Amino acid sequence: MKILVTGGAGYIGSVTAEKLIESGHEIFILDNLSEGHIGAIPPGSRFIEADILNTKELQQIFSTNKFDAVVHFAANCYVDESVENPGKYYKNNVFGSINILEEAVKSSVKKFVFSSTCSTYGIPEKIPIVEEEKQKPINPYGETKLAFEKTLEWYGQTYQIKYTILRYFNAAGATEKLGEDHRPETHLIPLVLQCALGKRSEIKIFGTDYNTKDGTCIRDYIHVSDIAKAHMLALENNTSNAFNLGNGTGYSVKEVIETAKAVTGKKINTTDCPRRKGDPPVLVGSAEKIHKKLGWEPQFPSLKEIVSTAWQWHKRFPEGYGK
Ligand code: UDP
Repeated sequence: MKILVTGGAGYIGSVTAEKLIESGHEIFILDNLSEGHIGAIPPGSRFIEADILNTKELQQIFSTNKFDAVVHFAANCYVDESVENPGKYYKNNVFGSINILEEAVKSSVKKFVFSSTCSTYGIPEKIPIVEEEKQKPINPYGETKLAFEKTLEWYGQTYQIKYTILRYFNAAGATEKLGEDHRPETHLIPLVLQCALGKRSEIKIFGTDYNTKDGTCIRDYIHVSDIAKAHMLALENNTSNAFNLGNGTGYSVKEVIETAKAVTGKKINTTDCPRRKGDPPVLVGSAEKIHKKLGWEPQFPSLKEIVSTAWQWHKRFPEGYGK
């Protein structure tokens, strides 16, 4: 298939593009490099530097290429920033996404795969979270992702386009060449590994007074390659659907730090800090639906394996994708 991957210079986008190329697909990457890295663009893809808010550029791209499918990752994804600057999130995550979808519909793209998030659930009533859980986001990031999920559902009803919505839990881990390098880095696993590398003096634990087994937040970590695999299965499937994408097991912040100590053999200093704004106490997803409907199974379900792959990558590329 000829596939447009928006945000393909980013963390999950680049790994997915890499896997799609390995399976013989023709991959075009569209990225404005605001968060992505040139060094993350997998060899064998065609790179188009463009912004999803630039409708003229998008028209040009879609009119000169006949894509079979679009995999749409390009978005802003910091909860804190979304609270401080909601306009940026509404523009990029909603308007920008609609721009891509409009062009996809106009040029008769058959399949649209969208990166959504467990943040669309807000504070869930039941754990593990199933897809039928009420979606009540508690920050503009989750709200804008949910807004585009709804847009996609309506476009799917009106036009001849099939869609898959994938609600990721906590992406982590790395492939041999591609890994996690956000600027600024805010995610737990890369920050903990930077401590192990001696690039940071300590990891702050945001909140030790949650109603959880050890007082710290619980998350469902999923290997980035397993997320990529779900995109491949979604592209092969011809129905429209929304799926959770997690491992179904929750680990606390303290457990992640202990795992990182065991994997790296390094000392990792911690400081207890107040809660971070907008953090739900527990987010663990049920992946039963994607398992049953698409046959998805994680290849790296254990946190130890996930952290080990990330550690290999961080040791190999201590500066990430460089300056
Ligand atoms: N966290 C932390 N210290 C950090 C970064 C994150 O204690 O320096 C916590 C955060 O509060 C959350 C969990 O680790 O409970 C996972 O956070 P991350 O930012 O990796 O992902 P999120 O769940 O926010 O998408």
